[in-house]
Amino acid sequence: MRVPERLDAFMARANAAYYATHDPFADFTTAPEILQVFGELLGAWAAIVWAQFGRPTKVILAEAGPGRGTLMADALRLAARVAPDFHHAARVHLIETSARLRAVQARALPTARWHDRLADLPPGPIILLANEFLDALPVRQFQHTAQGWAERHVADGGFVLLPADQPATAPPGAAIGSVFETQPAARDFVATAASRIASQGGAAIILDYGRAESGPGDSLQALRAGRPADPLAAPGETDLTVHVDFQAMAREARAAGATAWGPIPQGSFLGALGLGPRVQKLAAANPSRATALLDAAQRLAAPGRMGHLFKALAITQEGAPPPPGFET
Ligand code: SAH
Repeated sequence: MRVPERLDAFMARANAAYYATHDPFADFTTAPEILQVFGELLGAWAAIVWAQFGRPTKVILAEAGPGRGTLMADALRLAARVAPDFHHAARVHLIETSARLRAVQARALPTARWHDRLADLPPGPIILLANEFLDALPVRQFQHTAQGWAERHVADGGFVLLPADQPATAPPGAAIGSVFETQPAARDFVATAASRIASQGGAAIILDYGRAESGPGDSLQALRAGRPADPLAAPGETDLTVHVDFQAMAREARAAGATAWGPIPQGSFLGALGLGPRVQKLAAANPSRATALLDAAQRLAAPGRMGHLFKALAITQEGAPPPPGFET
C-alpha cells in the first residue's frame, strides 16, 4: 500500500491537476454561465458598496476563482452602463492558479491582473467577489470511531483512518461514525479577506453551496460530465468539492475584526437585488429567449433548485451599513 495521503493534500493535488488540464464547464455549470443577470447583479452590488464606502477614486475589484471570466465581464458591462464612475475606479484583479483558465479569462478580461493568492494583491480598498470558489478548496475529514477520533487519509483509491485529535468543530457527544469537516484553506482565505477589509476598507461577497450552521456530515463529492463520480477513483479527472460551512466562515471574518452578514439563501439575495424585474425586462426585450431566461432565473433562485442550498455571505468593515441584499 502507498503511504496514506491526508485528504486535504489529496484534494489539493487532484484539483490542481483537474483545473490545469480540463475544461471544468464540461463537468458542471455555474450561476454566471446559466444567466448573465447573475454577474450584472453582482456588478450593481459592487457599485453600491463602493458608493457606501465613500467612492474611492481607485478600488481593487477582485474575483477569486473566476472560471471563464463571465461573472466579472457581466459585472463590468453593467457597471460601465449604470455606474461609470465606479467602472472608471475599478482595477480588476483575479485570483486564479490554473494557467489554462487564466488564458480563457484573459480573452474576456483583457485589462485584468492575475495572482495566485489573495495575500499577493496590492494594498487598498477592495471589493472581492467569489462564486463557487471556496467549495473547491481542500477539506479535512475527521471521523468518530469506537476507538476515538481518526482523520481520513487516501491510499490506493480508498480511505484509510489514522488516529487524530478531536476536531474543534465536533461537540463532546458526537455520534460514533459521524464525520466532521474543516477547510483550512477556505478559512485562511476568509480571514485574509476580512482582516484586509477591516484595516483597509472594502467588502466581500461569497456565494456557494453549503450549510448555514456547522455540524456533522460528509459532503465530499466529485462531478464528471454533470454526474456524481467516485471522489477517490480518478484524481485529476473529476472536480472535487465540499459544501461550505458558512458558520465557520462567518466566525473567521468576525475573528479578523470585520462584520459578517448572513449567510442568507441565494434566492433571497438575488431577489433583493432585483433579479425578478431585471429578468422580466430582459425577457420582454428578447421574446424568443423569454422562456429560457425565466427558467434560468428560477434555477438560480427557487428554493428547490439553487436558491436555498446556495448561500450568500458578505463581509464589511465594522460599522458599515448593510450591503445590498442584507438590509433586513
Ligand atoms: N467562479 C466561477 C468558476 C468556479 S470553478 C464561476 O462561477 O463560474 C472554481 C474556480 O476556482 C476555477 O477558476 C479554478 O481554477 C479556481 N481555483 C480552484 N482552486 C483554486 C485555488 N486553490 N486558488 C485559486 N483558484 C482556484
